[in-house]
Amino acid sequence: MALLTLRAFRSIRAVPSWIPRTAYLRPTIRFSSISTVPSESLKIQNRDVSVPTGIFINNEFRASLTSSQFSVENPATGEPILSIEEGREEDVNAAVKAARAAFEGGWSTSNPVERGELLNRLAQLMERDKEDIIALEMLDTGKTYKQASNLDFPGSVGTLKYYAGWADKVLGLTSFNIPGTFAYTRREPVGVCGQIIPWNFPLLMFIWKIAPAIATGNTIVMKSAEATPLTALKCCELIKEAGFPAGVVNLVSGFGKTVGNAIANHMDIDKVAFTGSTATGRAILKSSAQSNLKKVTLELGGKSPNIIFPDADIAKAVEWSAWGINMNFGQTCHAGTRIYVHEQIYDEFVAAYAKRMGSIKVGDNFDPSVDQGPQNSKMQYDKILGYIQKGKEEGAKVELGGNVAEVDGSKGGYYIQPTIFSNTRPDMKIMREEIFGPVVCISKFSTEEEVLELANDTTYGLAAAVHTKDYERALRITNGLKAGTAWVNMYNFVHWSIPFGGYKQSGLGRECGEAALENYTEVKAVYMNTGIPAPQ
Ligand code: ADP
Repeated sequence: MALLTLRAFRSIRAVPSWIPRTAYLRPTIRFSSISTVPSESLKIQNRDVSVPTGIFINNEFRASLTSSQFSVENPATGEPILSIEEGREEDVNAAVKAARAAFEGGWSTSNPVERGELLNRLAQLMERDKEDIIALEMLDTGKTYKQASNLDFPGSVGTLKYYAGWADKVLGLTSFNIPGTFAYTRREPVGVCGQIIPWNFPLLMFIWKIAPAIATGNTIVMKSAEATPLTALKCCELIKEAGFPAGVVNLVSGFGKTVGNAIANHMDIDKVAFTGSTATGRAILKSSAQSNLKKVTLELGGKSPNIIFPDADIAKAVEWSAWGINMNFGQTCHAGTRIYVHEQIYDEFVAAYAKRMGSIKVGDNFDPSVDQGPQNSKMQYDKILGYIQKGKEEGAKVELGGNVAEVDGSKGGYYIQPTIFSNTRPDMKIMREEIFGPVVCISKFSTEEEVLELANDTTYGLAAAVHTKDYERALRITNGLKAGTAWVNMYNFVHWSIPFGGYKQSGLGRECGEAALENYTEVKAVYMNTGIPAPQ
C-alpha cells in the first residue's frame, strides 16, 4: 500500500519560479512492496519506440496486483506486439485511493493557471514525441499515417491546448437580485472521475476525456480499451514528465468485465465518462444506479443518415460521402452509414460513388499510398463480415465490395473491401444496426418530408448530414434531424471547441467545447445574508 504525504500541493504559490515545477509539485510518496515495471522497446518500421507496460498509479508504472498480463495484438498481422500488465478490481481500488488522496490533498483547490500550464506542457511533450506516438497508434490500431497524423494527433494536441485555456475561465454567477442577500455560485470539481474509452480513437479519446477533467481540478482513473492500450500508456509517461502531481491521472489497462465493471460500480468514484457501445453504456448507467449514483456521461453508437439533394454539388457530395465512411475505415460512431439520394440523381450518384469508393486502396497501413488499413480486431472483422452476409441474405444489392480484401504480402490482417449496398429497406439489419466497418447503405427518396422521416427512423441520434445549395432547405432539414451534430455539405468534421454527443440512444451529455466543463463541475449556490431577519 502507498502511504502518501501530499503536503507539497498546498505550497504551490509560495515557491519561487526558479525552482523547477517537478521539484515542488510532486508529493512525497513512500511505497511499501510496490514493484514497478520497466518500459519495453518496440521496433516500429525503422523507429525504436519505448512504451511503458505497467499500471499507472501515483506516477509509477506498477505490476498488476494479481500478477496478470495480457497480450496486445497487431491488427495488420494478428500477431502479438507485446504483453502489458492487466488490471483487476484490486488495481482499480488502488488507483481510486491514489486519485482520492490527490483530489483531497490539494489538487481540487490547486491554482487553475497551473493546471492550464500542465495541460500545455503535456501538449508540448506530445509534439516533441509526435512521431513515436503516431507510430504506436498505427501499430496498435491499424490506422494509416494520414489518419493518425492529420486527425487523431492534431485533434489531441488541439484539445489539450483548448482546455488549458479554459482552466482559469470557469466562473460562477453573482446575484444581488434577491433583497437582503448576496448570492453567488461556485463551479467545483466533481471529484474522482472514472473514464472508460474505446479502441477506435485510443489517443484522441484519452485526451478528450482527461483534458476537461484536469482543467476543472478533478482526478482520474482511466481505463483504456483492451485492444488498444499503448498510446494511453505513452501519454502517462509524458504526464509524469510534465510534472503532474502523483495520483491526478491513473491508468488501469484491462478488460471491460473486470476493470470497467469495477469503475462503474465503485463507491468512491464520483463520475464516470464512457465512450463505446450502447449496450455497455446501458450497463454502466445501471451500475451507477445500483452503486452510488455517480454522475454518468455516455457517448454511444450511431447509424447516421447522409442526405443528398439534386441541387447539391454532386462531385463534392460524392467526396464527402466517401469520407463519411472511409474515415477510420468506418470505425467511427458518427460514420455516414445510411445515404439517402434523391431519385432525380440516384443513378448518377450511385455510379460516381461506387467509382470513388472503388478507388480506395486497401492494404498495409504503414504503406503511405494506402487509404484503408486493417479493421481493428478479429472480433470486429467477423462482426462486419457477418453484417455483409446478412445484407446479402436480406436481399440488398451489392454495388461494390462485399468481401474480404486480399492484400499482397498480408499475414492474416483484418482487411475488408469497401462495401456499398443498394436496394435497402428500412427494416433490414444493415439499415438498423451499427456495423462499425467500411459498409454503407444507399436508399432513394423523393420529398423532404419523406427523407426526414427515413433519416430519423433510428434509435440512434449522433450525427447527420445534408448536401444542398439551397440554404433554406439546409435549415429546414438540419432543424428536423434528431441528431447531436448536423453537417451541411460536409461529413465527419468534429472540432474540440464544439459540443459533441447524441440524441436518443446515442448518449447522455456532451463532450468537447464549453459543454464538457459542465460534466466535470458541480455548481454550489452560496447565499450570504445582508439583512434578512430570521423568520419568527
Ligand atoms: P465496442 O463494442 O466498441 O468494443 P464496448 O462498449 O464493448 O465497445 O467497449 C468500450 C469500452 O468499454 C472498452 O474500454 C471496454 O473494455 C469497456 N467495457 C466493456 N464492457 C464493459 C462493462 N461491462 N463495464 C464497463 N466497461 C466495459
